Amino acid sequence: MSKSVIPKGLKCVIFDMDGVLYDSMKNHETTWVGCLKPEGIDFHPSEAYLHEGRTGFDTIGYAFKKYLNIEATQEDKERVYNEKVRLMGLAPKAQKMPKMLELIQALKEQGIDVWVVTGSKQPTLLDKLHGDFGIDPKQIICARDVVNGKPHPEPYLKAVAGSGYKAEECIVVENAPLGVRSAKAAGIITIAVNTGILEDEILESEAADVVLPDTKSLMPYFKSVLV
Ligand code: MG
Repeated sequence: MSKSVIPKGLKCVIFDMDGVLYDSMKNHETTWVGCLKPEGIDFHPSEAYLHEGRTGFDTIGYAFKKYLNIEATQEDKERVYNEKVRLMGLAPKAQKMPKMLELIQALKEQGIDVWVVTGSKQPTLLDKLHGDFGIDPKQIICARDVVNGKPHPEPYLKAVAGSGYKAEECIVVENAPLGVRSAKAAGIITIAVNTGILEDEILESEAADVVLPDTKSLMPYFKSVLV
């Protein structure tokens, strides 16, 4: 493995949620395909991964434009998003990603702060972050907290500002190309974990500082700050 990108004075790790903390991307894939079908859109499953990180309304706007060549109205966005939320409620329960609870506990033991930045506003998972991972609800930036979702840097800039640390004292863990783009645009070192179906090259092309194959590889990667 090449040289570690973990800064010596690491103060804060900012985690994405879907595909990093929870094994929830399969549910997003099937519910995106399912909620767009009644609209006459045959959404390709890979699009769920390529556009992961955008807010739901942004993804609906994108899909209407690309597949129907029309602008989605506010009413369209609300109707489709409500269907997405309904289908997510019926989807199998997303499990925690391997070794993520252990990593978060180990970071906290070293006095390293933990934040979560997500484009989601799905209560199914957001409400569980405290119980499942001990995440302070005040240390979560979700779709409700931003004007511009990923790939805009705003969500990550807000987390850095909220943490009180400098961007160079933080590190981001992301699985999505647009999430990597957002974090890098905010000036933060970014570890990509390729937990989905896309090629590593897509994450590398967004300038991820390192691409790891899975969440289990994170703990050994962080070892320089965990001893
Ligand atoms: Mg994600």
